[in-house]
Amino acid sequence: MSTRIFNFSAGPAVLPESVLEEARDNLLSLGDTGIGVLEHSHRGPAMIEVFEEAERLCRKLAAIPDNYRVLFLQGGASTQFATIPMNFLDRNSTADYLVTGSWSKKAVQEAKMFGTVRIACNGADENFSRIPAERDFSESPAYVHFTSNNTIFGTQFPTEPIPPGDAPLVCDASSDIFSREIDVSKYGLIYAGAQKNLGPSGVTLVVIRDDLVERGAKEIPTMFQYRTHAQADSCYNTPPTFGVYLMKLVFQWILDQGGLAGVREINERKAGKLYSYLDESSLFRPTADPACRSRMNVTFVTGDPELDAQFVAFARDRRLDGLKGHRSVGGMRASIYNAFPEAGVEHLIETMREFEDLHSDAVSRSSKANA
Ligand SMILES: *Cc1c(COP(=O)(O)O)cnc(C)c1O
Repeated sequence: MSTRIFNFSAGPAVLPESVLEEARDNLLSLGDTGIGVLEHSHRGPAMIEVFEEAERLCRKLAAIPDNYRVLFLQGGASTQFATIPMNFLDRNSTADYLVTGSWSKKAVQEAKMFGTVRIACNGADENFSRIPAERDFSESPAYVHFTSNNTIFGTQFPTEPIPPGDAPLVCDASSDIFSREIDVSKYGLIYAGAQKNLGPSGVTLVVIRDDLVERGAKEIPTMFQYRTHAQADSCYNTPPTFGVYLMKLVFQWILDQGGLAGVREINERKAGKLYSYLDESSLFRPTADPACRSRMNVTFVTGDPELDAQFVAFARDRRLDGLKGHRSVGGMRASIYNAFPEAGVEHLIETMREFEDLHSDAVSRSSKANA
């Protein structure tokens, strides 16, 4: 068996080893059913129990109030970009979007197909290195949409934006869901593709308030109505059973870490170590505004794209994979989701020190040669 390395991938991303081991043990037979977890019917008692347990653990983890539904859907967060306006927006209404990165831009693009979009703030001018404090909401938007963590630019909302009036707050929480405590009652709808913090790709978690399920449009295809999935307990058609099974194991794993408060503390410590090193480094520089730095995706540069590429290769040789920044921003990105081990963060810091020493050596040698 090959040994595992430290995987900084932005998604699909590292999963807890104990979860993978348990899944492996159940591939050939889920418990003592004699049927593998991938092979069970979604209508059979064993898989129904998996779904019920996944929902129960999810509710427990985030103290989800009774007037919210927990849905396990397909199509990724990107399908939600369209499903949300399809349900809640029409030609006569406006939805407000906080544009804080590439994913919120994509969400806007979809919403524009269904109604009017008001850009309540836009961080594009500063290349999304900061979450703008100024907000320009419309009077009574159908909803207010924001992206709690900007996976590509490494920024994160420290707290939720406050929508005007009683407009429902809609959140793309794909890359920081369940990485810290969350007050679900502040939201109308929260969604997340699983592949960053919750499980494998192929399943999308949606937490939606009852009145929004009812408010959703009826003249849209059945699969795009939240009502359909709420009424059928996420089993209207064949759901992503393996994804939900794995999510169930991840929910239990988070509970074992001390729940959301427990993982938040660990995440603060991991990101804190990394940022303090970056702040004092003479070679590397973090790119996000300190007031809204992400604890999930830490973005940094040397200032020299060639040196960045050298470092990514240098780190790769030391069992640190996936540090290349997103193609749209360059530099480096360390994605350190819940399941990313603290030892990997420490190894990254040591590796950056080593590279920095080598580099300053080279700098002083060349300056001596020039003298
Ligand atoms: C990864 C990501 C997405 C896209 O998710 P898919 O499941 O691939 O559609 C959307 N929003 C955010 C914040 C992300 O990090």
